[in-house]
Amino acid sequence: MSNKKLDYIIVGQGVGGTLISWFLRARGKSHVVIDNNHFQAASKIAAGVINPITGRKYVKSWRIEELLPFALETYKGISDFIQEKIYHEKLIYRGLYSIKDENTWETRKADPISGQFIVENPSTEEFDGKVNGIFAYGVLKQGMQIQLGKLIDGYRKNLEKDNSILNEKFDYQQLNITDDGVEYKGIKASKVIFAEGYQAQFNPYFKHLAFEPAKGDVLIIKVKGRPFDNILRHKVFIAPIDEEHYWVGSGYRWTFDDDAPDEEKGQELKDKLDEILNVPYEVVDHIAGIRPCVKGRRPFLGRHSEHQNLVIFNGLGTKGASLGPYWASHLIEHLEDGAEIDFEVKVS
Ligand SMILES: Cc1cc2nc3c(=O)[nH]c(=O)nc-3n(C[C@H](O)[C@H](O)[C@H](O)COP(=O)(O)OP(=O)(O)OC[C@H]3O[C@@H](n4cnc5c(N)ncnc54)[C@H](O)[C@@H]3O)c2cc1C
Repeated sequence: MSNKKLDYIIVGQGVGGTLISWFLRARGKSHVVIDNNHFQAASKIAAGVINPITGRKYVKSWRIEELLPFALETYKGISDFIQEKIYHEKLIYRGLYSIKDENTWETRKADPISGQFIVENPSTEEFDGKVNGIFAYGVLKQGMQIQLGKLIDGYRKNLEKDNSILNEKFDYQQLNITDDGVEYKGIKASKVIFAEGYQAQFNPYFKHLAFEPAKGDVLIIKVKGRPFDNILRHKVFIAPIDEEHYWVGSGYRWTFDDDAPDEEKGQELKDKLDEILNVPYEVVDHIAGIRPCVKGRRPFLGRHSEHQNLVIFNGLGTKGASLGPYWASHLIEHLEDGAEIDFEVKVS
């Protein structure tokens, strides 16, 4: 790394830091990324599903009409860059459990905004005989699955090639704020962008923000013969990973001691699987991760109120795959072009 002053230092290389780097790269802005080898990175655990309609009441995801096309375009670009396809367009099959559920679903289908994401007369053949306990299916289109683990690993290799990544834990005590920027262990830059996921709680400059991290447990199962290609949401989420493995998750816990898998939660997932899955499977792994959720459920973007050269990109919560591209680009437009940050996401 040369002694030349850089434009930016980025702390964290989960999907958040990776996307920030991607949009800076597109503008030719010099930067270095500091990441402690994806330690406790939620991006390594996530299913990466982009779901246009969510929750028990089947509500359209916040701003999904803008986020989805932008995300697709971005992930296409990164796939070309890292020479690995990391986005997959998928249908999402939701279990409906009663006539009441079906009626609510039909109401959403009739709505011009939600209805654009709902398949009119879906075939359920893919799941016939393989799944128990479903009254009817509601099927979503324009869903996507982003392989966030592959994305950050592939991107990191390119950062390594460019000598633009330091594999270490960022030590906040060593950050000096200077008149014209920042300095960290001899590296000078105009600004530092923090994208540490839920670990931003330990950042002395931003720890006062309303973080509310949520832990989730995940089982990785092996199933012979790839019984289905699309995503199923039926008591749990089941999403294909590769030819023989599926991701099964995950639940939310707001109080926890660490990010280690919890045996009891693993068993709960397995019990649900036994109840719903009608094909033989084997659990090959049990993992867990912590989502960078925040009160208010909107991303946090912007500068520190006192130190204008310290910037945060956080709060991707349960939806990093869809929120990340649009809001990372939005933050860079603010920093580079002076564009106003949208009031819904502006950190204050
Ligand atoms: C079980 C589970 C399921 C999920 N499923 C989905 C899903 O289906 N769809 C979806 O969109 N999202 C999902 N998510 C959420 C998604 O994972 C997050 O929104 C997203 O990954 C957050 O990315 P991030 O870059 O902000 O944080 P992270 O991925 O946590 O990355 C932060 C990075 O910063 C580094 N870091 C932190 N502190 C320091 C430091 N001091 N020094 C150096 N490096 C540091 C860490 O090593 C890490 O690499 C899920 C999450 C979990 C846990």
